[in-house]
Parts: sequence; structure tokens; C-alpha cells
Amino acid sequence: MSPAASFDRPVRHLVLVLGDQLWFDNPALAGFDPAQDLVLMIEAPGEASLVWSHKARLVVFLSAMRHFAQRVQARGWPLQYLRLDEPAWDDAPDLTQRLARCLATHRPQSLWVCEPGEWRLQQSLAATAADAGVPLRSFEDTHFLCSRARFARWAKGRREWRMEYFYREMRREHGVLMDGGGPLGGQWNFDADNRSAYPRSGPGDIPPPAGFDALTREVMALVERLYPQHPGSLARFAWPVTPEQAQEALDRFVAERLPNFGRYQDAMWNDTPFGWHSLLSVALNLHLIHPRTVIAAAERAHHEQGLPLASVEGFIRQVLGWREFIRGVYWEDMPGLREANHFNHTRALPAWYWTGQTHMACLRDAIGQTLALGYAHHIQRLMLMGQFALLAEIDPRQVADWFLAIYVDAVEWVELPNVAGMALYANGGRFTSKPYVASGQYVSRMSNHCQGCRYRPAQPTGTHACPITTLYWNFLDRFEAQLAGNPRTALMVKNLQRMDPQAREAVREQARQTLSNLDGL
Ligand SMILES: Cc1cc2nc3c(=O)[nH]c(=O)nc-3n(C[C@H](O)[C@H](O)[C@H](O)COP(=O)(O)OP(=O)(O)OC[C@H]3O[C@@H](n4cnc5c(N)ncnc54)[C@H](O)[C@@H]3O)c2cc1C
Ligand code: SF4
Repeated sequence: MSPAASFDRPVRHLVLVLGDQLWFDNPALAGFDPAQDLVLMIEAPGEASLVWSHKARLVVFLSAMRHFAQRVQARGWPLQYLRLDEPAWDDAPDLTQRLARCLATHRPQSLWVCEPGEWRLQQSLAATAADAGVPLRSFEDTHFLCSRARFARWAKGRREWRMEYFYREMRREHGVLMDGGGPLGGQWNFDADNRSAYPRSGPGDIPPPAGFDALTREVMALVERLYPQHPGSLARFAWPVTPEQAQEALDRFVAERLPNFGRYQDAMWNDTPFGWHSLLSVALNLHLIHPRTVIAAAERAHHEQGLPLASVEGFIRQVLGWREFIRGVYWEDMPGLREANHFNHTRALPAWYWTGQTHMACLRDAIGQTLALGYAHHIQRLMLMGQFALLAEIDPRQVADWFLAIYVDAVEWVELPNVAGMALYANGGRFTSKPYVASGQYVSRMSNHCQGCRYRPAQPTGTHACPITTLYWNFLDRFEAQLAGNPRTALMVKNLQRMDPQAREAVREQARQTLSNLDGL
């Protein structure tokens, strides 16, 4: 790929292709005329250094962008591609500064872009175009099955937003897993079949996910050179960065892992970073593969190969249900969602979130794999890193910044509602019916982590008290009235109320000590 191409003709449409919009059906590229239009792609060192980021996340974005740029050029389309490390652009490190300079140079008739996934970027693109006096045309992002306007219509006037009802509408609307007018198999949701732990003997042989690396080496070297101090490792980098690799990752998942996906969706085990999960979030979020393709492949596997409906439905629920729902929530609730702090938590994130060096075996394993791979599956994110941060009263902004930095698939529209809404209940339960909290005994049931831990999951107090268990009871104690009034947490509170007053006071004291020593756990 050549550096910034010179383009000395008048430009009709300057088409900005963002780093998570890497597909040729991008509506801003429809009707692209190489004789008059110019594609612009921007690597922005400001984004890479200001937003602290796992090295693998940087490599994923940069490598996928550079591969896409090669294809733009292979089509003979004019492209201006601004690289991170071009000295001529050192004085314009931010995306919008670089864009402003390109607008001033080319004076296009208009700037075209597919609507960004991030609220802040949407605002700053509009401001940059307005400052330059260039009309901005923003196209609806057709890489989703539910447009922002469609979600807003669904959400309007509803007192409670529940993913399940949204998901049913999506199933009907897109004809997915339907049988006549009703759900295939007679029920919408096989969630109850999706919660098994691994057998006591462990997860057995799980086929490794497809791995990709070769074409990314140049970008890896660049990231190591420019950002040596950033967290995470590239030693096991294996993420798809092209549409073909994304398709291969999907094919391998459907053939080898989908049959067991549903059953063991929530299970955890030492040194088992991927379980039976798909690892498709990166490819989906960068628009390397369309969710429709992913859903159709899973549905076909049920109809043509007889894969269990519980697994296939469980998987489709994540993609057609949760993913589309979460995006809708983000756009409805920004910018306030970033400030939400229902419980007014203000503690600092423990330093071991960045190193994995904690005595808590479950968090050591999950954060260790996160640093090694930039990946943890949903239950690890929700019930380990997320719930610990909630129970330990960590400031939601710090938690969200950590999640945005550390996962390869992290983009704000999906990260923030999951962190602030689902894991921390910072938005006061706008779309979840209860805070997701559980004691260490949940971790013990769903994994083998507790067997090698210095703490004891059943003990809320004492020398070997499990910090998660202590803080779980403390959380119930602090918010007793609020949680007692919620039918989904009332039973937890009843259990708390069975404790005698001395035991409750002992929990409070243990929690005080635990909270004052978060870095030492
Ligand atoms: C605190 C927290 C933070 C998260 N941050 C991110 C993030 O930054 N980026 C991201 O893509 N996902 C995020 N998720 C959602 C989910 O954990 C990941 O999408 C998933 O773990 C990715 O792994 P996978 O592709 O193997 O997923 P699978 O378990 O195989 O699921 C299939 C697909 O469903 C979608 N999906 C599943 N759950 C969710 C969900 N809750 N919200 C949206 N989409 C979902 C993803 O696209 C995923 O690839 C977060 C969840 C939590 C609880
Ligand atoms: S005892 Fe507690 S801290 Fe240790 S692994 Fe189990 S749940 Fe985690």
C-alpha cells in the first residue's frame, strides 16, 4: 500500500471509511466514481495513544484497515491513506485534525460517511465538516439488522426495555428460526438449557479456533515499536482481519464449536480461554462479516445438519438479540450513559486489573487470558471482571475505560452499555431487571477456579474469606431495601435476613477491610 496518494483533480465526494466500517457494501461507497470521488482512510496516533489500548486491539484495527485499503487500490479507486507513523502528519495526531486538513486540501463538494458507531465521533465529524464549510452526508449503517430509527420506534413509550421482547420482534421481522407464525421448536428461548458447567473432569478436547497471523506481522512490528508500554501481548495473536478470514472463522465455528456452544456458554475453567465460543465479535464489529451471514449459517446448521436447536437459538439470540439491542440502547442513552453512576461508586480500579497479579484465582485466570489474548468470554466479563468492580464499588468510568482498552472487540457502542448497563447497573436497571451479583459459590459452581485459590468461596468472613463472597453479602446489606423490593433479588435479601446480627456485623467489618485493601487481594 502506498502512502497518501496525491489526487490533484477536484473531488466530488470525499468518502471517509472508518476503521470499523471495512466492507464494500458500505453505503457511503455506493455509486463511488473513481473519476470524481476519493476514499479517505485515517490512522490516528492520537486515538492509539490517548485511549490506552491492548496491543492486539491496535493490531486488529490497523491490520484490517490496511488490508481493506489494499483492496480499494486493487479496484483502481483513488485512496488517501494516512498512516500512524507519517512524519508529515505528526502535528495532526487526531482523526478530526487529519480530516480537517484533508477537507482544506481537497475542498470536496461533500463529505460522505457511514454513520459512526461512536457518539463522540459523530459529534466531532459534524463539527469538523461544518468548520470546513463542507456539507456532510451521513448514511445509515446497513451492517446492522435493526436501524437506530427502528430501535427508537421499538423503545418509544415502553416503560421497561427488555431484550427478550425486542428479540422476538427481530425474529418475526427477519424470519429467523420461525415456524409459521411462531418460534421454531415451540419456544422462543432455550436459555434454561444454556447454563451448564463443564463436567467435573473438565471441558475435554475443544477444537482450537481458526488462527490467523501471517499478513499482520508488519503491523505487529509497528505496534511493538510505537507502543511498547501498552498492555497485553501479541505472542498469540490470532484474529481475523479480512472478510475471507472472518468467513473461515465462522465456518470453523459452525462445524466444530457451535454444537456445544449453547450448553457450555456460561462455563469457565482454568486455562480454557475460549470454551466453545465463536470469537466472531471482532469480525462483526469491524464489519468484516455481516450478522445476517452469521445468523443464516447457524440456522442452516440446524436445518441441514441437525445441530441442536438449543445451541443454535442460544447463539442467534446473542447476535440478533443482544448485539442489536445493545446498539439501540447505546444510541438512545448517549451521552448520559457515560456519566451514569446509580450507586455513586468512586473507588479506584485495583492495579491488578492491568497485570492479573491477584491471589483471587478466578480473576487471575480471566485477566491473565485477557492480557495474553485480548479476549474473555461473556460470563468472565460479566461475572468476574464486571461484577467484582460492582461489588468493590469502583467508579464506573474507570471500569468502562478498562474494558474499552483491553478487549480486541471493544468499540464504545457495544462496550459501554454492557459495562455500565449490564455489569455495573450504573444506569439504574434501564434494560436489566436486576444487578447481576452472585457470591463466590456461583464461581465455584461454574468453574474449577476455586480449587486452586487461597480463598474459600463459601466463607464471607475469616482469614480465608473469599473477597467476592464478602463483598456480595456486603452489597446486599448496603442496598437491602432496594433489593428487597425487586422480585428478582428479594430471595437473596431473604437469605441475608436469615443471618444473625453478629454475623452481619462481621461481614460489614470484613468488607471494610477488603475494600480498604483492594490492591492487595
Ligand atoms: C462487561 C462486558 C463488556 C463487554 N464488552 C464488549 C465489547 O467491547 N465488544 C463486544 O463486541 N462485546 C462486548 N461484550 C459482549 C460479549 O461479552 C462479547 O461480544 C463476547 O464475549 C465476544 O466473544 P465471542 O465472539 O466469542 O462471543 P459469543 O459468545 O460466541 O457470542 C456470539 C456473538 O454475539 C454477540 N454478543 C454476545 N453477547 C453480547 C452482548 N452482551 N452484547 C453485544 N453483543 C453480544 C457478539 O457479537 C458475539 O461475537 C461485553 C460484555 C460484558 C458483560
Ligand atoms: S474462592 Fe473466591 S476469589 Fe477464589 S477463585 Fe473462588 S470465587 Fe474466585
